[in-house]
Amino acid sequence: MINEKGNISIHTENIFPIIKKWLYSEKDIFLRELISNASDAISKLKKLADIGEAKLGEDYKPRIEVGVNKEKGTIAITDNGIGMTDEEVKKYINQIAFSGAKDFIEKYKDKTDDQQIIGHFGLGFYSSFMVSSKVTIDTLSYREGEKAVRWESTGDTEYTMEESSKTTMGTTVTLTLAEDSKEFLDVWKVREIVKKYFAFLQYEIYIVDENAKKDDKKEAEEKPINNTQPLWLKNPRDCTDEEYKSFYHEVFTDFNDPLFWIHINMDYPFNMKGIIYFPKLKHEFETMEGKIKLYYNQVFVADNIKEVIPEFLMLLKGCLDCPDLPLNVSRSFLQNEGYVEKISAHITKKVADKLQLLFKKDRENYEKYWEDINPFVKYGCMREHKFYEKVKDILIFKTINDKFVTLSQYLEDNKSDDKKVYYVNDEKQQAQYIRMFKEHNMDAVILSTLIDSHFISFMEAENKDVKFLRVDADINSVMKSEDTREEDKKALLEKLQTIFKEATGNDKLKVEVEALKSESTPAIILLSEQSRRFMEMSRSFGGNFNADLFPKEETLMLNSNNPLIKRIVDLYGEDNRKEDVILAASHVYDLALLNHRQLEPATMEKFIERSNTLLMRLL
Ligand code: ADP
Repeated sequence: MINEKGNISIHTENIFPIIKKWLYSEKDIFLRELISNASDAISKLKKLADIGEAKLGEDYKPRIEVGVNKEKGTIAITDNGIGMTDEEVKKYINQIAFSGAKDFIEKYKDKTDDQQIIGHFGLGFYSSFMVSSKVTIDTLSYREGEKAVRWESTGDTEYTMEESSKTTMGTTVTLTLAEDSKEFLDVWKVREIVKKYFAFLQYEIYIVDENAKKDDKKEAEEKPINNTQPLWLKNPRDCTDEEYKSFYHEVFTDFNDPLFWIHINMDYPFNMKGIIYFPKLKHEFETMEGKIKLYYNQVFVADNIKEVIPEFLMLLKGCLDCPDLPLNVSRSFLQNEGYVEKISAHITKKVADKLQLLFKKDRENYEKYWEDINPFVKYGCMREHKFYEKVKDILIFKTINDKFVTLSQYLEDNKSDDKKVYYVNDEKQQAQYIRMFKEHNMDAVILSTLIDSHFISFMEAENKDVKFLRVDADINSVMKSEDTREEDKKALLEKLQTIFKEATGNDKLKVEVEALKSESTPAIILLSEQSRRFMEMSRSFGGNFNADLFPKEETLMLNSNNPLIKRIVDLYGEDNRKEDVILAASHVYDLALLNHRQLEPATMEKFIERSNTLLMRLL
């Protein structure tokens, strides 16, 4: 071959400074591009061999090697793929790659933020100039009788071509690293980058430290850094639980076992394979740290790409390989093509099916997992209506009686005048109300996580006739005895109002009387659901509001069947006992308050003082 010196015909002054500047933020993508080219070169060769166009030796084994040579200051990527003839180097490297670069510059010189365009414009190979002062290609084509070619360029528009001494089929791209990119001479750093993108590439990749002593080198060489057969490619029927678990540990470096998983294997309307895991939570917020890794033909693209993966799935962990998605084009394109909807629809269905199956066939585990999966399921319902439609009948609620019930089961078991669902959001704080519910054989569901207050509003919007009420919001008809006469009740109320207004010194105190079936509770504070929600909402919006504008609608509800209340009523008429009655009433009120919320410091002080007085009377 004739030695050739050429000038790349580009009119734009010099593309390299622009490429360098533009790509500067993510220098390590040059490795992704060069190894992808190496992998493509092997795939092409294998395809040719399949159709009888190329002959491969019996012992042919695809192999990609990344050689790091700190002493020489080089990093070399070698493949045993298709190779290039000198004509092909001229065509693919000098013309195509450069014209791609030119197109790119013309279209994108003002844009700086879309990494995905690199592949699209055939700029892959030229990304090597981001980190190099010189790039050398040595390549030998698979075609018989071809000579090896060496191409070299220092990153301006000039190149040289001559015969190469390469004797094995394939290509080696050697980068002489520029001063500002010497960090890529660190073998560990290179290993980390290559692992990030190519942990599951279909061809073995070896990282070789070319300066290591002979023995060390041999040892290091023996193990590829990647797993060429990720579990998602295997037929789900042939995968064992152990395999799923260890794959999870490996990919997510999470030592906990996942709860369960879904193996995705879809081929219409496009190809998509993957495994999605439901992780075990350590605490409530952890779900927010989920991770869906997206792959393109086993090459890692990115985590949690919102243009491709529906948002609510990002709370889970998993790998999705989408070889049919044009991931090398811009993300807005992906969004507009409706891929998200298609992926979303498929995965949503799969996740819902899995949950249905567990609910029907393995209810015990479903209930056991609920604590971990409920934030995800609830978030999914609120984000994706189709998901809600699919799972609405298998949403379960844990109750104060340690049962798990669906909404309709709760309504069936706790028949009241309207469709009311009573809930607890703080079991400790609402203990007295819980006791009262249990005494009346009423159940209440526990909705105590952060997402629940939003979920309650969501459920009410979806089920217009159902109302969620916190256990301290009202007294249910189930709890009331029916035998009190209205006139009696009215007279009693007037009397108790006088007593308790006097006892509390609060003339505006709202007092109500009910004859509860259970005698044990003398008094409770009720706060209407609406005003409580309103207060909570105002607080969450900054809380800087005038408290007087939102009067607390607290009501003191007295149980006329309770012996203590009866005594208070009876003794109030007796002159010499009036003081005692007021004392007892004050205490009854404070106890009800204590069971409802924290007391203000002054009230607390009085409460303790009064408690001491009462104890003194005992002794
Ligand atoms: P792209 O890979 O997007 O086509 P590149 O600039 O990375 O763009 O490469 C241009 C062309 O050079 C490739 O299409 C391929 O034909 C050729 N090429 C690059 N690297 C190799 C390689 N390792 N082996 C064989 N051919 C290669």
